[in-house]
Amino acid sequence: VNINNVNLEISAVEPKQYPRSNHPEIALVGRSNVGKSSLTNVLVNRKNYAHTSNQPGKTQTLNFYNVENKIYFVDIPGYGFARVSKMEREKWATMIETYLTQRNQLDGAINLIDGRHKPTQTDIQMKAFLEYYQIPTLIVATKMDKIKKSHWNKSKSLIKKTMGLNDDQLVLFSAKTRSGKDQIWNWIQQQSGV
Ligand code: GDP
Repeated sequence: VNINNVNLEISAVEPKQYPRSNHPEIALVGRSNVGKSSLTNVLVNRKNYAHTSNQPGKTQTLNFYNVENKIYFVDIPGYGFARVSKMEREKWATMIETYLTQRNQLDGAINLIDGRHKPTQTDIQMKAFLEYYQIPTLIVATKMDKIKKSHWNKSKSLIKKTMGLNDDQLVLFSAKTRSGKDQIWNWIQQQSGV
């Protein structure tokens, strides 16, 4: 996919702030620091477009990246970070649930997990949540450059088994080598028709 135009169109909290267009949307979910910004940058062929987050206490918003005026990537702020109050956490959960459950043009979600470790309880819960709301989901295991190639099959089996996945629901990815990029784009195109 040849990307010439990508633009952080809006950072939204409430539905009235979402873009008005009917372009398909793909959500990117995963705990903070898992590598969402890095994945976004690889998908849109930019070095440092989506800024690396990892700023605890910063206001959490849904970031709508307009790609080629055809599709939005929606960066969902990371779940599972500790240093926020209970009230902040509830506001954040409401923001995410509202978007994921009510947005008609949402065509699928990419759920990022850390490929170096066994998927966590939170990873499994997120997958169950997306399944419950019938949102087509691709699990992307990131940071795979940190795992020896000879161990990839073992990692793949562990992730598939722990999360209950078929082969076509999982992509092993590295932002460093860009391995997996084409598979992810193929999935995005299948879901959105762009
Ligand atoms: P986000 O908080 O989910 O947006 O995560 P970032 O994209 O900011 O990544 C968090 C940290 O992990 C940064 O230091 C990245 O450089 C690093 N990182 C992300 N993806 C990869 C990857 O595929 N390989 C390696 N080696 N590091 C990565």
